Amino acid sequence: MLICRCAWHRRYYGYPLLSGVVSWRGWNLRFTDGICPRCLDRFRSEHRVFLHRRDATADVEAPSIVKESVA
Ligand SMILES: [Zn+2]
Repeated sequence: MLICRCAWHRRYYGYPLLSGVVSWRGWNLRFTDGICPRCLDRFRSEHRVFLHRRDATADVEAPSIVKESVA
């Protein structure tokens, strides 16, 4: 039996999330790590902030507002 769990959930929310059974085959309990949509959103926004910081040549650390760069 293969269970998909969110590898990021514990970090972001403080508790693990089992997102579902991937396969019922076999009697052994195994886990595969993935990421759930909620954590993905969070990961993306963190990533954006991180990139934004690296790209920021000057000034302010924009607090919570992520400005969209228009190319
Ligand atoms: Zn998660």
